Amino acid sequence: MRMTSLGSGSQGNCTLIEDSHTCILVDLGFTLKETEKRLQRVGRGAADISAILVTHEHSDHIHGVAAFARKHKTPVFLTPGTYDEKRMGVVPNLNLINCHRAFDVGSLAIEPVAVPHDAREPCQYVITSGGVSIGVLTDLGHITPHVERHYEQCDALLLECNHDVQMLADGPYPYNLKQRVGGLHGHLNNEQAAGLLRKINLPRLQQLVISHISGKNNAPHLALDAVNSVLHAGETGWRGQLLVAQQATGFDWLEVSPS
Ligand SMILES: [Zn+2]
Ligand SMILES: [Zn+2]
Repeated sequence: MRMTSLGSGSQGNCTLIEDSHTCILVDLGFTLKETEKRLQRVGRGAADISAILVTHEHSDHIHGVAAFARKHKTPVFLTPGTYDEKRMGVVPNLNLINCHRAFDVGSLAIEPVAVPHDAREPCQYVITSGGVSIGVLTDLGHITPHVERHYEQCDALLLECNHDVQMLADGPYPYNLKQRVGGLHGHLNNEQAAGLLRKINLPRLQQLVISHISGKNNAPHLALDAVNSVLHAGETGWRGQLLVAQQATGFDWLEVSPS
């Protein structure tokens, strides 16, 4: 399997995940024009996309979904709570999912995972093909046992490291927004994200991508320090590659092979 990102952060998110038969998008937070430009950059076009999986209705995840789906007749999968007809308009190939029930898109097996976030019915996704599992995990306020269980056996993981607790406290956000971002239904801070790594099968993890990093309340070196402190705490078995997804450029294609 392979994955790449068109961009990651509060200004827009979009991840491409594919095997040799099926290519999907997880979220689409960019305008139609911007999406087509960014897709070209990773060597794909709208015709290559078999479906869009949506995690929740915040605009950095959903902004471009309906326009892209209308223009290209792309199937869209999302929870009933995430779909808002008044806001999105008609989506020609709409698939309402149960966030506790797995489904397939082409050759990819999709496992939705409910997460605590301040949206109507948010879920994240673990996508599997040929024994390889890729987990996308952003936009959650804390790690639940349910999340731990679903993400413990990933070969690749896109993991939110949204903010540094101190930078958020000292930063420019108004008080109520600080409470929201740092709250139980907000976003993962660096320490919470690192904490998940203590619970999962690290020897299996080939690719770890720090994602959805805040431009105002975090710095890549702080997220890397937090994550590295777990990856290199004794004999963890970690032998993978660690990188940071960028808002402007995402990250290049990464190969993930069966372990
Ligand atoms: Zn977001
Ligand atoms: Zn969100």
